[in-house]
Amino acid sequence: MLLHLGMSGRLTIGRAGTNATPPAHEHLVLETDSGARAGLVDPRRFGMVDLVRTSEEDRHRLLAHLGMEPLSDAMTGPALADLFRGRRSPIKSALLDQKLIAGLGNIYVCEALFRCGIHPERQACTLTKEENAALAEAIPQILEQAIASGGSSLRDYVQADGTKGGFQDLHLVYGREGAPCPNCGAGSPILRMTQSGRSTFFCPTCQK
Ligand SMILES: [Zn+2]
Repeated sequence: MLLHLGMSGRLTIGRAGTNATPPAHEHLVLETDSGARAGLVDPRRFGMVDLVRTSEEDRHRLLAHLGMEPLSDAMTGPALADLFRGRRSPIKSALLDQKLIAGLGNIYVCEALFRCGIHPERQACTLTKEENAALAEAIPQILEQAIASGGSSLRDYVQADGTKGGFQDLHLVYGREGAPCPNCGAGSPILRMTQSGRSTFFCPTCQK
């Protein structure tokens, strides 16, 4: 079963038979023999549910075009260098391109570029071997940290048990426009700019 949460869909997990009044906008409920109940709540209906044979997964229309899995062994400095070769688009846009790397969103790209000291407007093809290696290390670290702390709750995102995620408290630059840079200090506030319609947060001193 393939589940896509869309913009703000979420999965709630509880015990079967405990939910006499289903939550608003719950479109699908699965109950298991062991007594678990999973509900898909999707107020904006951008989500999707489909059944697909495991052997045909890679050819599914929502999966076929996806790029490298960032939490796999494929994520290495040389692999990133290959992806970025000849690519003149800003590194920020390249990292958000799901056809290159699957599953990186705006927050995690901003955080990765800051941690690696890379300016978001740099052309992807100009990254050095060292910078690609640093990114290949930072990206999975940030994703693993975010998963461990339950994700980032900005507006309405909550985890399956209804509690908020805690990764927003670990953001070093995202959403911190005007705050002192956590690396170089009060002299250089975090800036925000817009790239391809999305906010980018960065430190102009630390990110070259
Ligand atoms: Zn700084």
